[in-house]
Amino acid sequence: MSQPIAKIAGVCGWPVHHSISPKLHTYWLRAAKINGAYTMFAVHPHEANYAFKSLKRTTITGLNVTIPLKSQAYEAADEVTPDAQKLGVCNILYKSGERLIGHNTDVEGFAAPLIEQVGHRFILNNTVVIIGAGGAARAVLGALLQVGAPEIIILNRTDERAENLAANVNIPSLYARPWADRNQAIFGAGLVINASAAGMKGNPGLDLDLENMSPDGWVYDLVYTPIETPLLKQAKKHGIKTIGGLDMLIAQARPSYKLFFGEHPPRGIGAREMLINYLRSQQ
Ligand code: NAP
Repeated sequence: MSQPIAKIAGVCGWPVHHSISPKLHTYWLRAAKINGAYTMFAVHPHEANYAFKSLKRTTITGLNVTIPLKSQAYEAADEVTPDAQKLGVCNILYKSGERLIGHNTDVEGFAAPLIEQVGHRFILNNTVVIIGAGGAARAVLGALLQVGAPEIIILNRTDERAENLAANVNIPSLYARPWADRNQAIFGAGLVINASAAGMKGNPGLDLDLENMSPDGWVYDLVYTPIETPLLKQAKKHGIKTIGGLDMLIAQARPSYKLFFGEHPPRGIGAREMLINYLRSQQ
């Protein structure tokens, strides 16, 4: 009797060897006993367009796309979903019949832990500060606008990028403040989100003093390597509640897995603990 063809998916980027997505998807696949595999593809930006266009001629069901290929994935898609269109970048490419579809799960991935842990009501009653103005910050902003955050302040090391991001949305309750004012800007904020690359392994920590922040507030750091970033450590020292980037990583991977392998990944099987142990072993 012939075996059904295994479903193959993966993550592509340049570099990509640091990605923990293969660990997570493989863990889910094994637990669900699915005949499939999830691997990594190092794709140089010069080759990305060719690689994406060739996907349709392979048995790969879909790809997660990471830095620096997200804009190229958007351009290569035959069709993009509204979630990808809002951000102008794709973190997923998958095949649907003869078409290559570009999608983005970062908004959903950011929002899920936020709603679960902080709750809708808190967000509706507090000022939010976003740090960063890149792709991740756009996803964060999209989610906060969907939830209905009443006041959003954007801060970015390069002021002009924060101003441009705020001007793109153009609503009075959303505005940029100069980077030089960052320690004052968080005064009175209920939620501070680090959507910048500061604090990531190999980068300097985020230069932000949480002294002025209310201990009733929350700090959400999208960075997940290391698990406990300098910003999260500082927040804990001040008694501020925290969410780390690993929760977003898992939440954005869940819909990817469904698209690639046809069913929701299993819950309650210790995937988060497995990743924490893995990341700690790499420190
Ligand atoms: P990006 O488009 O390259 O943007 C990087 C941002 O970080 C820019 O705003 C940049 O400011 C800022 N930045 C870099 N180094 C900084 C420093 N030392 N101090 C202050 N700001 C600094 O990257 P991205 O895609 O938005 O990703 C940002 C971070 O989010 C990354 O660490 C990424 O790993 C993380 N992320 C996590 C998840 C998850 O699932 N947990 C998902 C997506 C992204 P300038 O404009 O001044 O350069």
